[in-house]
Amino acid sequence: MSHSYEDSLLIVGGGIAGSALARALQRKDLPFRIIERRRTPFDGGLAINLPGNAIQALSALGLREQIEKFGHPLRRREYRTARDKLLFQVDEDAFWGPALRPRSIRRSALLSMLAAGLPEASLLYNADVQSMTLHSTHAELGLADGTNLATRLVVGADGVRSTIRTEAFGTVLGPGHALLAEKSWRFMAPNPGVDCWTVWAADEGVVLLMPIDDREVYGWAAITRPLSRGDSPEALDWLTRQFPERVRRTVLDVLARPNALYHSPLEEVRLNRWHNGRAVLIGDAAHATAPVWAEGVALALEDAIVLARALSTICDELPALADFEAQRRSRVAHVQALTDAMSQAAKLPAFIRNALFPFIGPKRYRQTYEPLKTAV
Ligand SMILES: Cc1cc2nc3c(=O)[nH]c(=O)nc-3n(C[C@H](O)[C@H](O)[C@H](O)COP(=O)(O)OP(=O)(O)OC[C@H]3O[C@@H](n4cnc5c(N)ncnc54)[C@H](O)[C@@H]3O)c2cc1C
Repeated sequence: MSHSYEDSLLIVGGGIAGSALARALQRKDLPFRIIERRRTPFDGGLAINLPGNAIQALSALGLREQIEKFGHPLRRREYRTARDKLLFQVDEDAFWGPALRPRSIRRSALLSMLAAGLPEASLLYNADVQSMTLHSTHAELGLADGTNLATRLVVGADGVRSTIRTEAFGTVLGPGHALLAEKSWRFMAPNPGVDCWTVWAADEGVVLLMPIDDREVYGWAAITRPLSRGDSPEALDWLTRQFPERVRRTVLDVLARPNALYHSPLEEVRLNRWHNGRAVLIGDAAHATAPVWAEGVALALEDAIVLARALSTICDELPALADFEAQRRSRVAHVQALTDAMSQAAKLPAFIRNALFPFIGPKRYRQTYEPLKTAV
């Protein structure tokens, strides 16, 4: 067993929140080290939707040119019935303006963009944190290989099943299921001619298709009512029999390819505190939220910016953590409340939802995103 003391802040988790924090700290000349359990730097090939406030945060992290180069512009959102009737659409270009135009991007591209230029010595891969002990002057991390690290400050950026959260707050605060659905699937497929973020909803479930480029779409599907078929691929097959031909074709293409369908539980984390002593949580570890408004990445990026700023401007670290949390609470609570509101609306019987959505849909969109246009 080896012991070492770090002057650097230790970031547990090198996903989106951890890499963004490292980048934000580097821009402020603050020392850090990322401890990541994956063996390789980047995630698999799935994709993500970045609303305007995520674009704004990426610009603040110095990545404006990169996101314009590698992100695919999403100019419109469409909400449709299972029979392809358009319930409402949102002109995202008009809402956000060209500077904050939403984009889709592969996760691997986003992660490599965030990690570009971080010193290699500051990244420790294949390192699984299994325990943390908090002391008044420092925190100790125990790694799976027997290494112990001690440091002044630990940031838990270790996702929805966070070890740091469990260690700092106790096992009772595990993730809970999202209101919208418990499980979902994600996949990539040939683009069947979808040119914007498009969701189709039936009584039993939803399918979203979003172009990554002219050739490929990212798909997300969820069963929103308990089915006797459970959540097997057969349930997805059954659900999409009533969907339009372009959705059906895409799902059949995915079902025909073993390993093309990724099962994703929908879990949420709602805590009334994000810091305890010398440990603080950011990103999904603090506030994982169902992807109803695609705000997970944006909130993680904003957390990173606000935490790095608090640590660079407030000399004492513990008040800096309290300041970080105070700055972030209301924005995260806003996204959580609007996620619940839209999840409840999405679960209404189709005949009610189809009558209401043309009115409440555009309103909810504005209500959700308008306050998020203000930079953090
Ligand atoms: C189905 C689905 C679709 C989504 N779609 C969108 C979308 O379109 N747009 C959007 O903005 N958000 C979306 N999200 C949410 C988004 O994926 C998350 O908010 C985002 O990935 C959070 O980043 P994070 O860095 O906090 O956590 P993660 O990305 O989970 O990263 C955590 C990292 O910590 C590492 N780690 C974990 N435990 C340990 C440990 N003990 N020791 C060392 N390392 C550890 C992991 O290996 C991982 O690299 C979606 C989520 C789901 C489930």
